[in-house]
Parts: sequence; structure tokens; C-alpha cells
Amino acid sequence: MAWDFSTEPEFQEQLDWVEQFCRTEIEPLDLVFPGAAYSRDPKAKALADPLKQQVKDHGLWALFLDKDLGGPGFGQLKLALLNEILGRYRSAPVVFGTAAPDTGNMEMLAAYGTEEQKRRWLPPLMNQEIFSAYSMTEPQGGSDPNLFRTHAMRDGEEWVITGEKWFTSAGARADIIFVMCTNGMFVVPGDAPGVEIMEYPALHNHIRYNDVRVPADHLLGPENGAKVLAQRRLGGGRIHHAMRTVAQVKLAFDIMCERALSRESHGKTIAEHQMVQEAIAESYAEINMLRLLVLWTAWTIDNSSTREARTQIAACKYTAAKVLREVSYRALHIMGSLGTTNLTPLQAMWASAPTMAIMDGADEVHMVTVARNVLKGYEPHPGLWPTEYIPAKREEARKKYADLLAADPDLAAWADHAARATARGH
Ligand SMILES: Cc1cc2nc3c(=O)[nH]c(=O)nc-3n(C[C@H](O)[C@H](O)[C@H](O)COP(=O)(O)OP(=O)(O)OC[C@H]3O[C@@H](n4cnc5c(N)ncnc54)[C@H](O)[C@@H]3O)c2cc1C
Repeated sequence: MAWDFSTEPEFQEQLDWVEQFCRTEIEPLDLVFPGAAYSRDPKAKALADPLKQQVKDHGLWALFLDKDLGGPGFGQLKLALLNEILGRYRSAPVVFGTAAPDTGNMEMLAAYGTEEQKRRWLPPLMNQEIFSAYSMTEPQGGSDPNLFRTHAMRDGEEWVITGEKWFTSAGARADIIFVMCTNGMFVVPGDAPGVEIMEYPALHNHIRYNDVRVPADHLLGPENGAKVLAQRRLGGGRIHHAMRTVAQVKLAFDIMCERALSRESHGKTIAEHQMVQEAIAESYAEINMLRLLVLWTAWTIDNSSTREARTQIAACKYTAAKVLREVSYRALHIMGSLGTTNLTPLQAMWASAPTMAIMDGADEVHMVTVARNVLKGYEPHPGLWPTEYIPAKREEARKKYADLLAADPDLAAWADHAARATARGH
């Protein structure tokens, strides 16, 4: 029987180690030295690097990359189970070498780079010796790539890139930036002359590319191939975000349940009030629906490709945002006044829900993808009535029993009675 929801014991042992490692090593680091895992400061690196080494020693580094792309090749399903733990801790993705935006960029580089491009950029990105960013969105348009204007002109052995990008996450600190141009995807060194980082926003940068020159071999993939590369990059990124969202909503759920059992109101525990029970029951079901959707999608990717799984990935994207919004709100609400402060993770979690619905593409765009792809499996009904119009179906079904109905008046009366019963309805 192929439908099996169990985790193989060897991998479960690794997951158990990850859980304990995150609780005892990563969480304390996050609480006392927030940001240390991301920092290039030597003192911060001295704290975070030994943790990264432990992850490497356990063979869990950069788990998102398949073997043929240079990773351990565990596949997306195992990554999903791992991310269900990592997503709870802010620095865990970077300590495990699975942090955005580098993961998606590496995936794109591994899939479309020449041998020379991979040799140059992939190992240092995997080892976090360098960091990358992804520049796609532009100030005048994000959801519709046909509105993008940034362009590269060939000039001898160089490309000259001109344009303006908006919301490039970690663009200001990136060593290399993957810049989506109307005629191709380019790798641009962060310090190339003409790369101008604007003052706002601070984390997701507004960048002007003022006639930035890069060597000819900085074109990634084919000329005019940027949209295909972008899909490859963003597909992976979206499912990884959804995997980590499962971890976040489980955290919210744990907080909600603990609190409901810990406080009283009007003579009973909060957990005994039916409306609180409804919040818990709804959250339980929604979290598991999201989790199974994500795991099924990860399994589909492992057994086919990101492209084949694109409808499911799109469904994961907006479902993750919705479940995060609903569950984090319920947890915050049940926490009462404390929930509204920054003294638990809930307020930040709830505030991140609208972001989830926009990053990696607005939810509506993904809903359109799902609806469009799903509708390809359907056709309009040929006549006036829908295929499931019962009187027409019954007429058709009676033909199967025509001889019987003609021969047996009792059966004919039964069938006529059933038909009249429908007619007496609306
Ligand atoms: C935290 C975060 C990190 C990000 N990181 C990066 C990054 O690293 N690199 C990068 O290039 N970009 C990044 N982005 C930008 C992101 O890709 C865009 O925000 C997203 O594609 C939407 O584009 P927009 O913001 O221009 O919104 P718009 O395209 O202006 O859309 C705004 C709203 O209009 C509506 N809308 C738009 N199109 C449709 C449609 N077809 N059907 C129905 N309604 C529609 C929706 O309500 C949508 O939310 C990031 C965004 C966030 C929030």
C-alpha cells in the first residue's frame, strides 16, 4: 500500500535531533543575540559557525538541493518535515543552509548555470561565504511581469543593464544579485559600478541599475529565458515558505492550547468555553489541511517536478497565508491582552500574515493559476442541462432497465414513484 503517512525511523531520529538542537542551541542564540546567525561580524560568526558545522556533521546542510544539483538529495518531502521544525525558530533556516532568498537563487543557478557559473557561485553560496538577492519586482508593477522594463543591452563582451527594481530582499548586503531583465536573467555583483541602493525600504531594497556593466558570461540560462527561470526559482521558494508556515501555525496552536488550559473565566477554564473549543477545533483541522496539502505537494515534486506540481504549489501559497492569518489571530485573541504585546511570538506572527499573502506573488494571482489549471480538466456541458441534471440522468438510466420495466409492473411502479418524488421537490 503506497499511501503511508509514517516517517522512516532513521529520518525520524534526525528530526528528533533537529528538534532538540533547535530548542537548546538556536532558540537561546535567537533570544540573546538576535541576528547573529546572519551577521558577518567575527564575534557573531564565532557563535553561529559551530552550530552550522554541527548541522553539516549530521548531513542536514542545504537539504533543499537535489543530489544532481550538489545537495544531499533528500527530496522535498523530507525537507517539508524538517521545515516543520525549523520554521519555528527565526535563525534556524540560515543555520541549516536553507534560508531565502539564497535557496531559490541556488536552485535556479544549479538548474540553469553553465559549469563555470556553478563552479564560481554555487559553492560559496552553499557555504554562506557569500549572500545573494533576487531583483524582479519593479516600482511600477509586481504581479504582472509584462510591466517590467529593466533591460540589458549587449555591448561587445559585456551586457549593460538599465532599470529600477523594488523590494529586493537583502539587496543591500548581497554579494551577487540575480536581476530579472526583460531579455534574460543576469548575475550582477552587488558592488558593480552603477548599482545604487536607495535609502528606503531598509530591508527589501529599492535598487537602481544605472548602466551596470557585467561580462557576457553573467547571463544565466538562455537569452529571453528570464520568465522560465523565475518560475523555477519562485516555485521552490513558495513551497518552502508554506512548509515553514506549518511550523508557525503549530507554534500558535501550542500557545493557544496551553493558555486555554491555564486560565479561568466565569467559573471554568477558558478551554471549557465552547467558543474557545470551536477556535481550537477549527485551528486543528485547518493546520492539518495545510500540512497535508504541503506534504502532498512536496511528494508530487519528488515524484515529478516543480513544474508538474505548479497548481498544488500555487494552492499551498494562498492556503498558507490564510491559515496563518486565521490561526495566529485566534491564538492571539485567546491570549487576551498579553497576545496584543510583543512578549509572545503571536503579535509578530499575526502581523506577518498580510505579508505572506503578498510575498512571492499576491494570493489572487495564484488563485487565478489554480482556477485556470483546474478548469483545463473540464468542458462545458453540451446541451441545456448540466451533466448532473437528475431527470435527464434518470431517463438515460431507465434505458438500461427498459426490458425489466416493461416486464415487471411492480418495478415500473417503484421507478415511477421515485421519479415523481423528485418532481414533488422544488
Ligand atoms: C516580504 C516580501 C519580500 C519580497 N522579496 C522580494 C524579492 O526579494 N525580490 C523581488 O523581486 N520582489 C520581492 N517582493 C515583492 C513581491 O514579489 C511583490 O510584492 C508581489 O509580486 C506583488 O507585487 P506588488 O507589490 O507590486 O503588488 P501589485 O502587483 O501592485 O498588486 C497589489 C494588489 O493588487 C491586486 N492584484 C494584482 N494583480 C492582480 C490580479 N492579477 N488579479 C487580482 N488582483 C490582483 C492584489 O490584491 C494585490 O495584492 C517581496 C515582497 C514582500 C512582501
